[in-house]
Amino acid sequence: MKNIAILGSTGSIGTQTLEVIEENPSLFRAYVLTAYSNADLLIAQSLKFKPAYAIICDEQKYQIVKEALSNTDVQVLAGNQAICNAVSDEHIDVVLTAMVGFSGLEPTIAAIKAGKDIALANKETLVVAGDIVTSLAKQHNVKILPVDSEHSAIFQCLAGEDHNPIEKIILTASGGPFRGKDAQFLANVTREAALKHPNWVMGAKITIDSASLMNKGLEVIEAKWLFDLSADQIEVIVHPQSIIHSLVQFTDGSIKAQLGLPDMKLPIQYALTYPDRIKTDFKRFSFTDYPNLTFEQPDMANFRNLSLAYKALDMGGNMPCIINAANEVAVAGFLKDKVGFLGMSDVIETCMERMPHIPSPTLDDHLNTDKETRILADNLIAAYGAVKA
Ligand code: NDP
Ligand code: MG
Repeated sequence: MKNIAILGSTGSIGTQTLEVIEENPSLFRAYVLTAYSNADLLIAQSLKFKPAYAIICDEQKYQIVKEALSNTDVQVLAGNQAICNAVSDEHIDVVLTAMVGFSGLEPTIAAIKAGKDIALANKETLVVAGDIVTSLAKQHNVKILPVDSEHSAIFQCLAGEDHNPIEKIILTASGGPFRGKDAQFLANVTREAALKHPNWVMGAKITIDSASLMNKGLEVIEAKWLFDLSADQIEVIVHPQSIIHSLVQFTDGSIKAQLGLPDMKLPIQYALTYPDRIKTDFKRFSFTDYPNLTFEQPDMANFRNLSLAYKALDMGGNMPCIINAANEVAVAGFLKDKVGFLGMSDVIETCMERMPHIPSPTLDDHLNTDKETRILADNLIAAYGAVKA
């Protein structure tokens, strides 16, 4: 029986992780559940799964959760620091990081320092501080098990290949709802259209990132740290059916791929059962349903975020932290109609130009870079709003 801490249990990945746990009660127990502010769902999940801890980040919601769970043994805590403390509980085996954005960084570091294996969905943690996080994981002998479907695919292809060098990996991208569209079209897309992903149902931030190809950019950087690759070993190919989840090419030229229907429960479960596989009744893929699997080059001219992410990876240091913070602010601005779809890339590019580049940042440098970049991006969006008006 593995005790799982699910950070961000009320989100898309979090709720699907709870489904995996519910389907395998003899293998897993939900030991920690956390939400940002969705008290109702956190309470419902806690009544059902009876975790040791239920943590709500928004301290104003603490009393509501506390009262609702007063007749249970669930310990209710509030605030971000409570998450960092709870992840070191001696009974926890795996910490599944499914909160969104930069907020995942400090709890992930706390979990690694406590020697917990990480099932990592929160890719932003590796984008922001991949160097620090991966070296801490080595130092504490902790595994980072990918949950992101592309990285899980690579990880599955690498099983049994420990001593065989990788020539390159190929990350597949669906291309999102605006695949094939030009800049004129993209300039006018609405939030509602961007929130409709063709193949996956996900949280709002990653759905916008998928539409703008920033998600693939973040995944390129995530792959660099997970698999110790250089930028020129990481390619992206658009594959609109999302059946091939990614591929690895070895130095003899052989390519391995992992295939399946788009369903995050499989990579979530594999991260929790690794290196074993367990039987499931997930819907099976059939070639007759997909007679045409197609591939095309990503359009980096109209979807600039992908080339900006490669540039940030190339520059290294705090530059990936800068694009992550600028992107989080830009996406939040887009979701509030304060900046247009293409304006998001303008904000990110300007932040990359104006923020000081630190080649070898410490954790404090990353925390400061995140804070300063958010201020700059907010100001740019305020000015952009004025221009738009
Ligand atoms: P959601 O927006 O659906 O859920 C986010 C979760 O994190 C919720 O539990 C939310 O709580 C909590 N949360 C939000 N903001 C904060 C914060 N500042 N501090 C602490 N907790 C917070 O996101 P997803 O599940 O879609 O994505 C989670 C992570 O997994 C992201 O990093 C994403 O890139 C990655 N991922 C997601 C995939 C997917 O299919 N959804 C696929 C691959 C990777 P509340 O509900 O209270 O707001
Ligand atoms: Mg992915």
